[in-house]
Amino acid sequence: MEVCSICKEEEPIYYQRHSGLKFCRECFIKYIKKKVRKTLGKKIIKQNVKIGMGLSGGKDSLVMAYLLREYYDPIPNSEIIGLIVDEGIEGFRKRGIKIAVEFCKKYDIPYYIDTFEDHIGYTLDRIVERAKEKNITANPCTFCGIIRRRILNSMALERSCNYLAIGHNLDDVAQAVMMNYIEGDIKKLVILGKSIEHPKFVRRIKPLKYIPEIEVKLFADLVGIKYHSEPCPYSSLSYRNEISEILNLLEKKHPGKKYSIVAGFERLVKYLPLEKDKSICKYCGNPSASGICKVCEILRRLDII
Ligand SMILES: [Zn+2]
Ligand SMILES: [Zn+2]
Repeated sequence: MEVCSICKEEEPIYYQRHSGLKFCRECFIKYIKKKVRKTLGKKIIKQNVKIGMGLSGGKDSLVMAYLLREYYDPIPNSEIIGLIVDEGIEGFRKRGIKIAVEFCKKYDIPYYIDTFEDHIGYTLDRIVERAKEKNITANPCTFCGIIRRRILNSMALERSCNYLAIGHNLDDVAQAVMMNYIEGDIKKLVILGKSIEHPKFVRRIKPLKYIPEIEVKLFADLVGIKYHSEPCPYSSLSYRNEISEILNLLEKKHPGKKYSIVAGFERLVKYLPLEKDKSICKYCGNPSASGICKVCEILRRLDII
C-alpha cells in the first residue's frame, strides 16, 4: 500500500507534484495550517491586532477566514472581522453573500456588508450598462476590482483594522504578476508587491499567497467549508482567464513554476522604488499621483461625477 510521505502510516489523498510528496488527510490539513501561519509570521499573528477580512463567500476567502480564526482565537486582545462588499451583480452576489454570512454566524465572526450603491450610487450591473451606452470597451473586472478595493479599504479603515486580509491564492498572485509583466506595467507591479504606507491605506496581507488554488479547494472540502463556487457572470470576459490557462499549462509541464513566478517577483520587487503619491484626488480626497484617483477616473469616464 502507498503511504503518506509525512506520517508514513495513512493512505495518501493528495500528491503534490512539485515536491513529490504524498499527503494523507490529517498531514495535508496540518501542512496548510503551518504554511499559512508561516506566511503571516509572528509580526502579524500577535496580541492587539485587528484584521478585516474581505469575504466574497468563495473558497479562498472562507479558507482564509477559517485559518485566521484558528490562529487568532487563542490570542488575547486580537480580533478578526468579516468585510463583505455587495457589488450589485444580479443573483450571483446575493448567493455569495448568503454563504459568507452563514460562515460568519457559524464561527461567531462579526461581519459588515457595504454596497457599491451606497458608496458610489451605482451597482456594478448599472456601471456595465452605462459603459456600453457610452461605448467604453473596458473589462467589467477592471471597474469592479478598483471600486471593490476602495470600499474594502474604507470599511477596514472605519473600523480601525491594522490589516486588510485578502484571500488571493498562489494562482491569483502569479496571474497578477504575469499580467503586469506582459503589459510592462512596472508601477502596478510595485504596488502589487509593496504596501503603500499612507494613513488612508490599511496595509493589505495575503495569507494564502503561497497556496495553489487546487490546495485551497482541497482544504475547504476536507474541513467541510461550504462555499460559493459559481463563477462571476462577468469573468468569462476576462483577460485574466487567458493568463490563467497559460499558467496552468506551464505548471502542468513544469511543476512549481507558479511558485517560482511569485517568489522571483517578491525578490525583484525589493529593488524597485515605490513612488509616493504625494497629491490627493480633487474629487474624493484619496491619495493619487495624477490628482484624480482611479475610482474617480472611472466615474468621470462614465459621467457619473
Ligand atoms: Zn500522513
Ligand atoms: Zn477620487
